[in-house]
Amino acid sequence: MAYGIGILIAERFAVAAVSEHAISGSLHVYPEDASKTDVLQGVPVEKIVSTALEQVQQLQLTETPTYLGVGIPGIVRNGVIEDSPNLVQLKGAKMQALMTEAFTPVFGTLSISIFNDADVMAAGIAATRGHLDQLIRVWTLGNGIGFGLYPYREGIWEAGHSVVTLDPKEQYCGCGGRGHLEGIMGNRAMRLRFMDMEPDEVFREAQAGDSRCMDFVKLWHRALAAATASSIHMAGPGKFFMTGFNASFLNLTLLNEYLHDMVKLSPLQGYSLEIVPGGEAVAAVGAAVNAAQAAERSSLAVAG
Ligand SMILES: [Zn+2]
Repeated sequence: MAYGIGILIAERFAVAAVSEHAISGSLHVYPEDASKTDVLQGVPVEKIVSTALEQVQQLQLTETPTYLGVGIPGIVRNGVIEDSPNLVQLKGAKMQALMTEAFTPVFGTLSISIFNDADVMAAGIAATRGHLDQLIRVWTLGNGIGFGLYPYREGIWEAGHSVVTLDPKEQYCGCGGRGHLEGIMGNRAMRLRFMDMEPDEVFREAQAGDSRCMDFVKLWHRALAAATASSIHMAGPGKFFMTGFNASFLNLTLLNEYLHDMVKLSPLQGYSLEIVPGGEAVAAVGAAVNAAQAAERSSLAVAG
C-alpha cells in the first residue's frame, strides 16, 4: 500500500499523490484563488465527483495508485454522506459508489474510502507528526467547529455540536441547536453575535480592554475547555490539537486554566493541548493514510 491519492473537498478541491505518509510531487488545488471559499455551494454531487477526477488527472503520478481517500464535511458512514450542513446538496449522496464509478474506468481497481474532513485532518496530523500509534483528537476552528479522531473508527463524534451552555439565548449554531460549541466558537456564529464587528476586531478590542469583547473571549475559551473536558471524561486523556483559521485567536494558558478547573479526576489529567498549522496538504495526506489503512483492513478481512 505504498502509493495512493488523498483528496480534500471542503472550501475547494485539494488533491495529492501520497507515498509513505508524505505528499509525492506537489499538492494541487482548485480553484487556485484561496479567497473563493464558497465555490462548492450548490454544486451538484455528480459535478463535484467529475471535478475531483479532473483534478486528480492533473497530478503527475509516478506509479499506479492502489487506494484513494476523500475527506468531506458532514456525517459520513459506509461511504454515504448522511448529512452535511455546510454543503446541503450532499445529504444522502452515495459518495463512495459515485467515486468508484468515476475513477475505475480511468485508474482501474482502486480501494476508495470516504471520511469526515476533520477525521482526515486528525490522520494527517498523526502522520506528519509521528503519532500514528496513538489516539489523537483535533479541533478545527473555522466557519464551523470540526472534531476529528485518529485512528479512524466507525461512529459519530459531532463534538462541534457539544452542548456547552444551558442558556436558551445561545442559538447561533449553524445546525440550529441551542447551547452548542459551534454557536459560540464558529466564525459564522461570531459574526451573527457581533453584527457590528468582525471576529478579528472582537479579539483585538478584548486586548484593548473592551468589557463586552473581554467577556466573549472568556466565554469562547471556556466553551472549548468544556467540550474538551467532556471528551476527556468520555474517552480519556491524550493529545488534543487545534487548527484552522481561527486557531490563532487561542490563548493556551487561558484554555489550560479553564480545563484544569473542569477535569479533576487524577487518571484523566494526562492531557495536552497544542496549536498546529494543519491545512489542505496535511488533510490530503490524512485522507490517503486513512484510505490505506481501510484498504489494508478490507484485504485482511478478505484473506481471513
Ligand atoms: Zn450545532
